[in-house]
Amino acid sequence: MPTMKTMLITGGSRGIGAATALLAANNGYAVCINYASNAAAAQNVCDTIIASGGQAFAVQGDVAIEADVLRLFATIDAQWGRLDVLVNNAGVLEQQMSLATMSAARLQRVFATNVIGTMLCAREAVNRMSTEQGGVGGAIVNVSSVAGRLGAPKQYVDYAASKGAVDSFTYGLAQEVASQGIRVNAVAPGIIDTDIHASGGDPQRVARIGAGLPMQRAGTADEVAQSILWLASDAASYVNGSVLDVAGGR
Ligand code: NAP
Repeated sequence: MPTMKTMLITGGSRGIGAATALLAANNGYAVCINYASNAAAAQNVCDTIIASGGQAFAVQGDVAIEADVLRLFATIDAQWGRLDVLVNNAGVLEQQMSLATMSAARLQRVFATNVIGTMLCAREAVNRMSTEQGGVGGAIVNVSSVAGRLGAPKQYVDYAASKGAVDSFTYGLAQEVASQGIRVNAVAPGIIDTDIHASGGDPQRVARIGAGLPMQRAGTADEVAQSILWLASDAASYVNGSVLDVAGGR
């Protein structure tokens, strides 16, 4: 069992997840980097951490698939035997369009990763952290989005609705496990400069929208990571069931 605190970051190989992994390692956490398909990106984050004297390992696994989630947590059990922090960061969006043309398969894919994946990983974390089950407590930070309140019309109302569900889940689970030594919070980023916008078919989105935001720029993945690390830390020991906007006033 490591003497360091341990953190699992789903989707920790790129974007906000990768920034969180690097910052967590700098703050003394041993880090597990989960990813879906891009093994090279995950290995790159691990290599960077290890080269700086930190501890990290990568585990492939699609959070939307229960068997993958069980394998991911079984690997953590074998490596660490303890989990202190789960960052439920893996999330997807698809091509911008109106609801009128969204297929059922797309809706299922978006909800499977963003909502069910988040809930499955939280379940496995709770079952390990809970003081009622022999654990020592812990913290869960869900990565939501301000899209949950803005709605993302004519772009991805499915994604926005999935993040609304993440917010509801955060409020509910926080109350459910508060007496078991576990805090559950979320960050709701605004427009952050990562690859996800290209996934929606709009790689110029950050450049186009950034200057019109209240702070006249998009946010960086590291600015979101700073908030995630704070919510995970003892400095936020009485913060529970909160959704913290990291959106530059948007
Ligand atoms: P990103 O750059 O597209 O990176 C996504 C990460 O998630 C990658 O590491 C990817 O791994 C992983 N991933 C995707 N689907 C997965 C699955 N089913 N199982 C496991 N891992 C999976 O995204 P990002 O912008 O950093 O977004 C991270 C989170 O922030 C998401 O929840 C997103 O909704 C939220 N967010 C982002 C913004 C923004 O403007 N960027 C704003 C609000 C909220 P592979 O590379 O292996 O596919």
